Amino acid sequence: MTEDPVHELRELVDSLSDWLRYQRRLGWRGMPGERPSPPQDREKPYEKTLEEIRAEMGDCRRCKLYAGRTHLVFGDGAADARLMFVGEAPGAEEDQQGVPFVGAAGQLLNKMLSKLGLRREEVYIANVLKSRPPGNRDPEADEMAACLPFLEKQIKAIRPRVIVTLGRIATHALLGTKEPLTRLRGRWQRYHDIRVMATFHPSYLLRAPQERRKTWDDMQQVMEYLASHEED
Ligand code: URA
Repeated sequence: MTEDPVHELRELVDSLSDWLRYQRRLGWRGMPGERPSPPQDREKPYEKTLEEIRAEMGDCRRCKLYAGRTHLVFGDGAADARLMFVGEAPGAEEDQQGVPFVGAAGQLLNKMLSKLGLRREEVYIANVLKSRPPGNRDPEADEMAACLPFLEKQIKAIRPRVIVTLGRIATHALLGTKEPLTRLRGRWQRYHDIRVMATFHPSYLLRAPQERRKTWDDMQQVMEYLASHEED
């Protein structure tokens, strides 16, 4: 928690606007006597855009990782992507550039995307944590608790048809389970009403190339699903 009163005020305003959005989604149309919203506004889902979510994060100090970061790594790709990838946290290269998956693991991810006939610009890539943990250690519980709500907002804004979680940390964070990745991967999971395919993290695949076939098979299931639901 920050002790900076400006940050505290910003967080208070953010929570209040989240609550108001939530009330609107439940059907609340304003205080008595307030002008009703124009009809087109009533049709719109009251989700924040990616730009609004990024602005809400600001120069985030909601956990201790801000002190060591160079750049906050928010996410990269198409705001209306049908396929979204979720990794763990930025590494050194990502921290330098402010873009997810641009280091060695990112090169492998790019290679896989291109073999699948996908361009990086047509998917969306984000991490559970937006700031780099020192020495690439595992994220800690307080860091995940502070950052996960922003990933959840990104997912709401993008509304992908499929999410691919890369590795144990992202999979457990999103699915809220501790089941081993080896049991979760390769089988459809759910995050609310969105299909989730858990698979190995590209960093692991760099160390264990013999496992790449399994991730390839997982991605085939994803591509088949997306191809057979093109109208969605
Ligand atoms: N590993 C991740 O989980 N995310 C990145 O952005 C880079 C490496």
